[in-house]
Amino acid sequence: MPDLPKILVIGSANMDMVIQTSHFPKPGETIIGGHFSLIPGGKGANQAVAAARLGGSVAFITQLGTDVFGNTSLENFKKEGIDTSRIRQNPHQPSGVALITVDGHGENTIIVAPGANNHLREEDIQAAENYFLEASIVLIQLEIPLQVVLASVQMAKKYGKKLILNPAPASQLSAEYYDGLYMITPNETEIELLSGIKIVDERSAKSAAAVLASKGAQHIVITLGASGAYVYSEEFTGILPTEKVKAVDTTAAGDTFNGALAVALGNGRTIKEAVAFALKAATLSVQKLGAQSSIPHLSELK
Ligand code: ATP
Repeated sequence: MPDLPKILVIGSANMDMVIQTSHFPKPGETIIGGHFSLIPGGKGANQAVAAARLGGSVAFITQLGTDVFGNTSLENFKKEGIDTSRIRQNPHQPSGVALITVDGHGENTIIVAPGANNHLREEDIQAAENYFLEASIVLIQLEIPLQVVLASVQMAKKYGKKLILNPAPASQLSAEYYDGLYMITPNETEIELLSGIKIVDERSAKSAAAVLASKGAQHIVITLGASGAYVYSEEFTGILPTEKVKAVDTTAAGDTFNGALAVALGNGRTIKEAVAFALKAATLSVQKLGAQSSIPHLSELK
């Protein structure tokens, strides 16, 4: 049996408090919603769980509080088979939480209180040097302090490791983030902010991706929601469509996509094959409610 790909995920962990609603409240309005659920989430945690469920051997670097949410998250990562030895619990900060509402069309609103996530530091990355050495893929997002992201990009470059930067939530990035960057995976909103070009068709997607390539990103994968993904790479350029399905909740669709992509690339798949695998996983996730509750297992993709 081949070794599982080693995926190092660095990022946020939150506890998601999800309320279903027929419509979103206006400012000052109180409405009675539907079912409430408490689901572990956060972009980093979701991507770590996605990679683990889809066949990766995953180590996760994050920071939690010592509160009930932090303890629950830690237990949850262990249950998913994730290596938690680089996860720190900060006694002085609450664990990150997200307040999420989901309407009848599968649209959502999200407010995040980052708490301990904001206290991840460059030293946490330096202390994990061995994990970078062993990793076949490093996966990171922007829900943690930006200097930690930069330290990770630089550490991956130092050891010649492939790093996937999922630039979510949207944030401007200076030139140094692109220097030696293996792959960037924005959605349409994020690439508009990063490139200054609005995605309206394949041509504008190509122009926007070319801007990021000119800054140094080697491979650009733009997720296009129900339209699939646009790939800009030496190996393949163009749109890869996805299956038409009824979306009930798109929370964590992007995270599932990125976790799956990391596993497939870690398995030595081509970029086109890896994106096709990621699309399949993400499109399954939109058919279920919640963040981690919607992330599929490898067996569901077969
Ligand atoms: P989110 O923030 O909701 O997690 P995102 O904005 O980061 O997602 P999207 O581009 O919306 O990312 O979606 C990521 C992937 O999820 C898509 O490439 C696609 O595979 C799948 N997906 C999202 N929405 C749909 C949909 N309505 N139908 C089918 N697949 C979808």
